[in-house]
Amino acid sequence: MVKVYLDDPNVGELEKKYLCECIDSGYVSSVGPNIGTFENRFAEYLGVKRAVSTQSGTSALHLALYELGIGPGDEVIVPVLTFIATVNPIMYVGARPVFVDVDPETWTIDPDEIEKYITPRTKAIIPVHLYGNPCDMDRIMDISRRYGIPVIEDATESLGATYKERFTGTFGVMGVFSFNGNKIITTGGGGMVVTDDEKKANHIKFLANQARDTSRGYYHPEIGFNYRMTNLEASLGLAQFERFPQFLEMKRRFAQIYTEGLRNNLNVEFQGSYPGAESSYWLFSIKLKGDKSVQEVQKLLAEKGIPTRRIFMPIVEFPMYQQYREGEYKNAYDIYKRGLNLPASTLNTEKGIEYVVKTLNEVL
Ligand SMILES: *Cc1c(COP(=O)(O)O)cnc(C)c1O
Repeated sequence: MVKVYLDDPNVGELEKKYLCECIDSGYVSSVGPNIGTFENRFAEYLGVKRAVSTQSGTSALHLALYELGIGPGDEVIVPVLTFIATVNPIMYVGARPVFVDVDPETWTIDPDEIEKYITPRTKAIIPVHLYGNPCDMDRIMDISRRYGIPVIEDATESLGATYKERFTGTFGVMGVFSFNGNKIITTGGGGMVVTDDEKKANHIKFLANQARDTSRGYYHPEIGFNYRMTNLEASLGLAQFERFPQFLEMKRRFAQIYTEGLRNNLNVEFQGSYPGAESSYWLFSIKLKGDKSVQEVQKLLAEKGIPTRRIFMPIVEFPMYQQYREGEYKNAYDIYKRGLNLPASTLNTEKGIEYVVKTLNEVL
């Protein structure tokens, strides 16, 4: 039986080589040349002026919100269907998360819903390109301009995805990426804030480094954070980023195999895309339509050696966010109830994905 991987990291010889070179250099911590090189290559690839590395996607989001000066009394609009790390940083800065429902086809934040929830206190909108699928950025940026509310893109799942030929993460005033182990590339743990605003980039870099004014030694003119990526992690990042075009191609090829193989299955609905959007397919995702529950299908697939993952639970289900429930969130709940992430790790082979398709067609 062919082994199938859900979202496992793909690290090998190149990572070993760069990591060993890094260890040999002695620069294993927060000083070293790999950090700047990784940031520059990342910015160049996306076509943005600056990329600032961080310890995680979560800390990148925290810094982005902090940089906008968002705090107590402010509201931040987020989709109710996302990973918890999109929302917690809003609490770190003491602001209020305002949850909106997602579009039933694309599973990403519904622009019509955003407008309904805007108040004079709304200080940012965080669209999430869920599972690599770009949001309706034309409409979101139009809202942003009309109301004068900045957008921070949560592009942690969508490195390489494009909307009208422009990379996700480059539309808003800032975009945020993650290099957690299950993302398309990994540094073991890490993140990036990207922006065209040099001043913001410089200040974020400074904040992430204990707000240290290095020209005056250990002098700290404001409260900072220790959110730095290390040179060791950046060496992994450089290796992974070299292999990234191949990873992206594989994710898209797997999506093609799923789409073709499951197209005629009446019990399967795909996560749809907006016109002009090209998903990175970080995790290929479907909605089940038959009488079998998601749990039943997961169990049957697991018996055949196929790991799957449920869709994120709507955030207002969690105890600390229940009080912020403001709507029914019908679409998010429906997707949660019937949705499934399928194996998409770049450790898989086309044969492995074909096996998933065949098994899924048998099970459903
Ligand atoms: C992974 C992820 C994050 C946070 O990234 P970490 O690097 O794990 O901190 C934030 N938002 C979403 C939607 C994610 O999937």
